[in-house]
Formats: sequence, structure tokens, C-alpha cells
Amino acid sequence: MENTDFNHISELISQPLQILITTHSNPDGDAIGSSLALASYLKKKNHSVQVMIPDPYPDFLAWMKGHDEILVFSSDEIKCKKAIDRAELIISADYNNLSRLNDAAGLVRQSKAIKVLIDHHLNPSSEFDYRISISKISSTSEIVYNFIEKMGDLHLMDKDIAECIYAGIITDTGSLSYACNYIKTYLIMADLFRLGIDGEHLHRLIYDTYSESRLRLLGYSISDQLVVLPEYHTAYITLTKEDLHRFDHQIGDTEGVVNYALSIKDINLAALFMERDGIVKVSFRSKGAFAVNTLAAQYFNGGGHRNAAGANCTTTLEETILKFKQILPLYQPMLKSVY
Ligand code: 5GP
Ligand code: MN
Repeated sequence: MENTDFNHISELISQPLQILITTHSNPDGDAIGSSLALASYLKKKNHSVQVMIPDPYPDFLAWMKGHDEILVFSSDEIKCKKAIDRAELIISADYNNLSRLNDAAGLVRQSKAIKVLIDHHLNPSSEFDYRISISKISSTSEIVYNFIEKMGDLHLMDKDIAECIYAGIITDTGSLSYACNYIKTYLIMADLFRLGIDGEHLHRLIYDTYSESRLRLLGYSISDQLVVLPEYHTAYITLTKEDLHRFDHQIGDTEGVVNYALSIKDINLAALFMERDGIVKVSFRSKGAFAVNTLAAQYFNGGGHRNAAGANCTTTLEETILKFKQILPLYQPMLKSVY
């Protein structure tokens, strides 16, 4: 955990505090896993801890210890405001910019609480007092494990915390298939098993929970909506509001869809364009050296990691796709060879 404010943060949490842990909108397994793992750990350190998220988390995460105590800003603004008011320390887990708190961003920004970032995205914003920001680590959950270890508190790890960390690592690495070429990730995994987790069972809780309509939406996305552009080593999928409605779309249902486009041989860039109320949500994925976070930031006001990035665009679906197709020629040489 080099180049971080670890010592300051360690000092800060040496006495009991009112701590608010926040994570990004549209929270994924790592967002919820790292937040709940931290919450359980910090409670054991005698802090008073509340987790708050901008909007609901998907059902497939509703088994982690503490999930039922999370406050959701979009559905319980009053309680959330009180929690923000009360906080002496606000931890931002798994995101690098307070704007990703959507409607809760302003209140958190104005709060007098000390603000700490624990995250693995590139380019953290300057609005935090202290930062543990390490982009080469698989997941924020893995950073949380490292943090507990560096605090000398591994004896406080238990099965519940281990399950949350497992979920974060597994979901942020595609079940240990990317962003995990490091020995440490596997050493941590081994330790989680030592703590008694049932990896096979947890994997099923996370992945084998499709509704019939979700599976049919996936089938439709691939058979009807996939466009392959071999000359640009690119494939993309488009889903309109009507498509999502037809397949009774629920939060999290399109998670992973974009990866199927990337699974085609010689396809190095994949995108999913999804029409939501008033915005187009874009997911980018890439192989090897091709960096989608820079593409997302430069042309779509988004960001993320080298091989997984996203954006929320206010342009129409057609305009967004047109823009994407227009920039592909600029990237053609890079898309040709990514290894
Ligand atoms: P996903 O495609 O799974 O929604 O997002 C992949 C990654 O892209 C996320 O982990 C996050 O880092 C980043 N990301 C997604 N949406 C946005 C966005 O609107 N803005 C920024 N800056 N990053 C995003
Ligand atoms: Mn993450």
C-alpha cells in the first residue's frame, strides 16, 4: 500500500467516530462488497458506521452481512441527510469522484466531515482529504483486505467480511479472469477460504440468479442486437427503452451483457448502449492494451478502468452510436493489435 495516506487514516480511526461509508450509483459487487466489509470491520473497531448508496443495489447482492441496513438516498432522503449530517468521517469506497453520488453528491461535498477515498479507479479527484487510491489492484474489496492487514487487524476478519471481499474480487475480475494477474489476489482468496467461505455457493448466489426474462434479454441482445465491425475489431449491442421494457428489465439485468460482444475472436473493443430515462448509459470493454477509460473520458465524459469503462450520455441513442462509429477510424491502428 505504497504512496497513500495510510498513516493519516490509521491515526484518524484510532478513536471511535461516526463514520458514513458511501459508494457509487448503480452499485456493483465490489461497491457493495467493499463498503459492507469496511462497515463490519470498522464496527469491530468500535466506530458507529452507516453505509449509504445513491440508488438501490441489485438483488443478487442481497445476501451480504449488513445489506439490509444500507440507506438508499433515492428512496430515503431524510434518513440519508441525517446520516450525512451526523458523520465525522465520510469514506468513499470504489469511486473516484463525488459526482458519482448523483443527488447525494452536493450534501456530501458540503459536509464538514473528513473525507477519505478508498478506491482503485484512475484519476481520483482532489475533493478528498486523504486517499488510498491504487489502480493496479483488482478491486476496492482487495484494497480493503490489504488495509485491514496493514492495520495489523487480520484477527478481526471473519467469515462475513470474507464473503463481502470475495464478492468484490469475483465480480470485479470476471470470476478471476481479468485485472488479477497478481499473486496477492490469490493469496487473499486463499485466506478467505481459510476463514470458511463457501466459494462455490457464493458464486451461485452472485451469478445463478437470472430471471427467465433476464436470460431472454441476453439472448435477444446477442442474436438480434449485436453489430460486429470486423475492420475495427469492434462489436456493440444496442438496447432501446422499449427493448428493456419488453424484457421486464430490472436493475443489474444487463450486467455482463457487453462481455459477450468482447468474447468474439479478434474483437478488441466492445460497447453496450442502453437507453434510460433521458440518458444513454454506455459500457465499454476492451482487451489488452487498448484503454477504454481514455476513450470514455475524451469523447463521452465518462471514465473507468483500462479494460472496463462507462459513461452516461445526454445525447440520443442514435447520436451516441453515431459518435462512437465516427471515432472508430481514429483508433483503428490501436485496435488492430492490443497485445
Ligand atoms: P459498467 O459498464 O459496468 O457500468 O462500468 C464499468 C466501469 O466504468 C465502472 O467500474 C466505472 O469505473 C466506470 N464507469 C461507469 N459509468 C461511468 C460514468 O458515468 N462515469 C465514469 N467516470 N465512470 C463510469
Ligand atoms: Mn471496483
